[in-house]
Amino acid sequence: MAKLMCMKGPNGLCPCRTCKIIGIRAREGGNNTHYVPYFWDSEPYNPFNLLLRTHDEFIADALAVESAPSKAEAERRAKETGINGLPILASLSSLKFPHSFGHDLMHLISENVIKNLLSFWIGEYKGLDAGVEEYELAPEVVEEIGKECAVAGDTTPAAFGARIPNIATKRHYFTAKSYTLWTTMLAPVLLRGRFSHPKYYRHFLKLVNIFNDCLSMSLERDYVDRDLCRQIAVWVQEYKMYYYQYEDARLSTCPLTIHALLHIPDDILNGGPMWCYWNYVTECYVGFLVRSSKSRRNPYASFARRLHELTQNTAIKILTFVFCGHEQPGLYPTLFGKLLANIYRTRITSLPTSQWQQFPRRLSTGVGSLSSAVGTRCAVLRSPDVDINAHHSRQPRKDERQAAYGQLLELLEFIVVLPESDINKPLLLASIRPVKVPKRSPYPFPVYQDGKFNPIEVVDADDLSCLVARIPANRAGPRVYALYERPGAMGASVGAAPNTE
Ligand SMILES: [Zn+2]
Repeated sequence: MAKLMCMKGPNGLCPCRTCKIIGIRAREGGNNTHYVPYFWDSEPYNPFNLLLRTHDEFIADALAVESAPSKAEAERRAKETGINGLPILASLSSLKFPHSFGHDLMHLISENVIKNLLSFWIGEYKGLDAGVEEYELAPEVVEEIGKECAVAGDTTPAAFGARIPNIATKRHYFTAKSYTLWTTMLAPVLLRGRFSHPKYYRHFLKLVNIFNDCLSMSLERDYVDRDLCRQIAVWVQEYKMYYYQYEDARLSTCPLTIHALLHIPDDILNGGPMWCYWNYVTECYVGFLVRSSKSRRNPYASFARRLHELTQNTAIKILTFVFCGHEQPGLYPTLFGKLLANIYRTRITSLPTSQWQQFPRRLSTGVGSLSSAVGTRCAVLRSPDVDINAHHSRQPRKDERQAAYGQLLELLEFIVVLPESDINKPLLLASIRPVKVPKRSPYPFPVYQDGKFNPIEVVDADDLSCLVARIPANRAGPRVYALYERPGAMGASVGAAPNTE
């Protein structure tokens, strides 16, 4: 991005593309990188009041470099501002510098901050030890976390993405997507109780919350201005306290990416929620393209063959009734289904078995990945209407949507013809084994104890919201699973890459 904006980037004295903060080169180490500590030689900068670049200033600084009387003067001006010249994109009046060039959340947090934090915890960050803090994890703990990573893949739906490899032994297989899933799904569970002091875990969870907030499908302006801004500034301050420790020798713990977190609220206000322009979707599609062609000499023939194979694959799925398409509204009478599902919300054995049959016969009608979950007993999230006045017989019925989790056992097609009714379509019901979710959870996700189920229920399939992952969370005692539902923007990214399953 720095090249696109004609800027010097992290090696410049003025490394930030959004503000005019001055970087500091490490006295030891001999590299050209300029770091951005929070505090240096008694001159702290205020994270709430950064000196931001404006479009007019940016263009004026760029023109000043272009019009310099000599090469030496141009270099001096470029060093002062971090701008090498006028970018060609400046000729587009629709673009504003630097407001049109927001930071990419995936590379900023997943590929940089998280990678660095992992290196700190493993003790591999640029040859630094933990200093006066105790954030490093013991090797056996890292090994255990790695094994749990691999095991969690058994209970994570394939729709979430590729399995996350063992982070202790196979970190070289990690992609940006793996880091993203690891951060939001596995780490909040697997890191709990691992550090010698819980403050490091709490600090990490704050980052996960910031990350999830940035991925929200909608954000209130006031929330970004006030809460998100403060949360990020506090997180960066705590980071400097735990990892930088205000020591000259630890200057390399302050790369530009930590400082860039402070600009997230500006990016959101300038460009909207960060999932609108993050690279997660692009990388998914690029991954598909890369896998589609192994031949450098004949790439287009490879692409054509890949598309041909995908089309054949889809045709086979349709012919064998395993096609996973989108829901077809109107195929099943939803309201009527709800009514009957309420009537039959009891043990499955009470259904008149002569009138129902297992659903896989009609998979071609499509309920997406839910149909593929049958048989694997995946966990699903339900959002049924619950009568909150059920225990008060004198009060009228008042429905409220509530979240509930359970194992999907079967999808059932219920055929019934009621007298004096035009509705004679089959109903789509789901057989669910609900899990008991305690109100309090030690993790940021709901949990349940394996084997603790409520009686099987038959519910309207329309109540099923999505698949959820189960992350093994116990280290002693009975087996406990944390239930993870992907945040809105990550779930919405599923359809970004062509279906290659
Ligand atoms: Zn900045």
